[in-house]
Amino acid sequence: MRLIFLGPPGAGKGTQAELLTANLNIPQISTGDIFRNAVKAGTAMGLKAKQYMDKGELVPDDVVVGIVEERLAEPDCANGYILDGFPRTVAQADALEANLAARGEKIDKVINFVVPKDVLLARLTGRWVCKNCGATYHEEFKPPAKKGTCDNCSGELYQRDDDKLEAVTKRLQVYEEQTAPLIAYYQEKGILLTIQGNKPVEEVYNEIINGLKS
Ligand code: ADP
Ligand code: AMP
Repeated sequence: MRLIFLGPPGAGKGTQAELLTANLNIPQISTGDIFRNAVKAGTAMGLKAKQYMDKGELVPDDVVVGIVEERLAEPDCANGYILDGFPRTVAQADALEANLAARGEKIDKVINFVVPKDVLLARLTGRWVCKNCGATYHEEFKPPAKKGTCDNCSGELYQRDDDKLEAVTKRLQVYEEQTAPLIAYYQEKGILLTIQGNKPVEEVYNEIINGLKS
């Protein structure tokens, strides 16, 4: 099963991908996580990506597409994957389609997460992420058992720089301008599944599972 998770920052893509990867036994490929790891490792690509991420802007298409193409060629992607946060522009979607077509493959479903803007703001500004395993928490909606500590691995939790209000506002604007056109793009291909993401995590999860079955 090859899936794309499409939706604004804070819609719950990462949270749902974490649950679904375990169920379907396919990897989650988050371009945001790949960039954050590259920043942490101090690679040339990380340094370049950081300039855009800090401002809430998109990393240039050619950089992102190259990284995803390399990642999809790895053996653990053979049975499918969840693309979380990619594609984010029509150019990225076209490049993905061409890359898959060259291997006789295609995307099965695109899950479109719909969440009101005020909820997105509350989710992003209260998000805490594990430095070690990447698990996601929320200070109000999904608090860890012990403040500042990951339930899974006891790693330290931190708040992303780009979850500060200024960068969040920019990221939501960038989503509307550059990523939202992908809703119509995949609707036309007949593979869009729209999910109401403004519900408890388990209810969203069930809606996705039921949608994938039908
Ligand atoms: P995305 O990957 O789409 O940017 P996340 O999965 O990281 O979004 O979720 C953003 C924040 O909202 C996190 O703090 C997460 O714990 C919280 N969250 C995710 N899904 C829900 C939900 N259904 N209800 C309440 N809070 C949620
Ligand atoms: P995310 O973790 O998905 O919220 O992504 C964090 C940041 O990484 C974004 O604000 C962008 O700067 C960058 N990024 C992640 N995925 C992409 C992508 N597909 N295209 C361009 N930039 C991306």
